Amino acid sequence: MTRTLFHGGDVFDAASRQAAKADVVIEGNKILEIGTGLDGDEMVDTTGKTLLPGLFDCHVHFTSSGDLDLVNQVLRPFSIKYFEAVANMEATLRTGITSVREAGGSDLGVKTAVERGLVRGPRMQISIIMLSQTGGHGDGHLPSGACFASYDPYPGNPRGLVDGPEEMRRRVRELIREGADVIKVATSGGVLSPRDDPRHGHFRHDELDVLVGEAEAAGLFVMAHAQATEGIKAAIRSGIRSIEHGIYLDDEAISMMLEEGTWLVPTLSAPRAVVAAADAGARIGETILAKAHQVMEVHSDSFRRAVEAGVKVAMGTDSGVGPHGHNLEELGLMAESSSMSPGDAWFATTASAAALCGVEDQLGSIEPGKLADLTLLDGELADLTKLAERVSAVWKDGRRLV
Ligand SMILES: [Zn+2]
Repeated sequence: MTRTLFHGGDVFDAASRQAAKADVVIEGNKILEIGTGLDGDEMVDTTGKTLLPGLFDCHVHFTSSGDLDLVNQVLRPFSIKYFEAVANMEATLRTGITSVREAGGSDLGVKTAVERGLVRGPRMQISIIMLSQTGGHGDGHLPSGACFASYDPYPGNPRGLVDGPEEMRRRVRELIREGADVIKVATSGGVLSPRDDPRHGHFRHDELDVLVGEAEAAGLFVMAHAQATEGIKAAIRSGIRSIEHGIYLDDEAISMMLEEGTWLVPTLSAPRAVVAAADAGARIGETILAKAHQVMEVHSDSFRRAVEAGVKVAMGTDSGVGPHGHNLEELGLMAESSSMSPGDAWFATTASAAALCGVEDQLGSIEPGKLADLTLLDGELADLTKLAERVSAVWKDGRRLV
C-alpha cells in the first residue's frame, strides 16, 4: 500500500492545542506515524502550511440552504432540498469539515448516499428530526393555520411533535428504528419559529427522563436545542450530553454543566445569519427578526462566561440557517467573544468535538492508528481570518477529496 508523507510544515497537536513542525505518514485510510525524519512513497509538501485532523461541525442542517424567506420556503418543491443538500455537503467538505452532527433534516437516505459514494460529504451522525412539544421550536404551524410541510412525517422521518412521556418513548424508538445516530430535542423555544419564546423551557422532566432513558438504552447521546435558562437546566438535569445555542446561561446553569460534564455547542453564527438574511431582503416574520436581535448580545455574553468557567465547548454553526461553507467563521466569532485562544478554537473544532460525538478513538487528532481525515491550512493556526479560502486540501479516509 502507498505510504503518503506530509513534510515541511506544522502539525496541530490537540493535546497541547498548539502546532509544531512534524512529519505525518498515512497508509490506506489510517494515520501510520507522526514524528521527524519520516519517509514515504509519495510526498505532500506542507511548507508554509498547517496540517490539522479533519474538522468537525457539531450542528448543521444539510437540507436547509440559508434561504429564510418565508414565501420562498412555502413555494419550494418538497424534494428540492435533497438536491440542494448535495451542494451543501460539498461546500462543507471544501472548508475542511469531514465530520458533522446533522441537527435535523437529513434522513438515512442522505447519510447512505454519502457512505455509498453516490455523492460526496462528511461523515455524519444524523438526528433526522428534532423532537418538540406542541407549540415548541419544531412546531411549523403558522398563525394563519398553514403549516410547513417539512414538519410532517414521511417514510424515514417520524413526526417531530410529541407530548407526554408515553408518546416520547414511542417516538424515540421510532427515530432509532429509522437510523438516528443521535437524538435531538428542543427543551426551549427558539428564534426561527413563529409562536414560541426562546426564554421558555419546553418539556417537563418526566418527558425528558423517558427520552434520555430510551436513547441511552440504544447507546445514543442526546443533543438539546436549549436557549432558555430553564430549558438548559432541565436538559442538564436529565443527562443530555450537549446544550446547543445555550443563549440564556446563568451562573447556576454554568456550574451544573461543569458538574455534569455537559458540552456547549454555541452556534454564534446562527442569530447573525438571521439578521444578515433580513438585511439582504429576505421576508422574515417580524416576531422572528425581533427574537434574533433580542438573543444576539446575551448569547455572546453567556458564551464568554461559560468559557471563562471552563465549560467544554464543541464547534457548531447551525449552517443551513445561513449558507453552508462559511462554517469556519465560527472560530473567529468564538475567539472574539471570549478568552478562547486560536488553539482553543481549533481544539473545539477537532478533539473536543470528536469526544462529544463519542468518536475520539477514531477521529479528532493526528495520532497513529486513527482514521486519515486531514485538513491542510495555508499559514498559521493563530490566524483565524479568511479560513475558508486558506483550506488548500482535504483528505477523508485517506483519500484526497479537495
Ligand atoms: Zn439548528
